Amino acid sequence: MMDRDILKVLFSEEEIRARVEELGSELYERFCEKTPLFLGVLKGSFVFMADLVRACQIKSDLEFIAVSSYENATVSSGRVQITRDLQQDITGRDLIVVEDILDSGNTLAFLKDYFMTKGAASVTIVTLLDKPSRRTKAIQPDLTGFVVPDEFVVGYGLDYAQKYRNVPYIGVLKPEVYSN
Ligand code: 5GP
Ligand code: MG
Ligand code: MG
Repeated sequence: MMDRDILKVLFSEEEIRARVEELGSELYERFCEKTPLFLGVLKGSFVFMADLVRACQIKSDLEFIAVSSYENATVSSGRVQITRDLQQDITGRDLIVVEDILDSGNTLAFLKDYFMTKGAASVTIVTLLDKPSRRTKAIQPDLTGFVVPDEFVVGYGLDYAQKYRNVPYIGVLKPEVYSN
């Protein structure tokens, strides 16, 4: 079981489900008169994205972009690379950018600029988790699921070395997992 690598659970499946419903309702209020483009940042956002688009019953479409900056470490290298670009024109679109976690802010600061350069009409940032204590870029989410302390978390899409994305809750790994 993957569970035995988890030191503690920060947010249970039930807590996540309830919070995602609230975020879906908030997005509905903001966007029901529009046709926004949900834009997920791969890979970490894929579970959240799947639940969020179903919690927000508005006419919308969906896109993904993939970036990498971590290269199996737990600390950002600071350099953001697009590894899978947008597959459609976003000119004039209202974007709902869906992220797993906002940490240093490098990724979203880079992406927000990129999307504005590509002609987006608006960029709304929805992050499941926010770790404000580690921010080095002046960027804030528009909507946040939960604020987390300065600990490396996994589950609900978030990985450590590509593992634990399928853990259904959000938790902290045991220290010995990193040294193996
Ligand atoms: P930033 O560019 O804001 O430093 O980091 C953004 C990305 O780093 C996130 O989208 C996520 O993929 C990864 N990241 C940052 N903190 C954590 C964490 O605590 N756990 C995991 N699994 N990934 C993290
Ligand atoms: Mg991410
Ligand atoms: Mg990762």
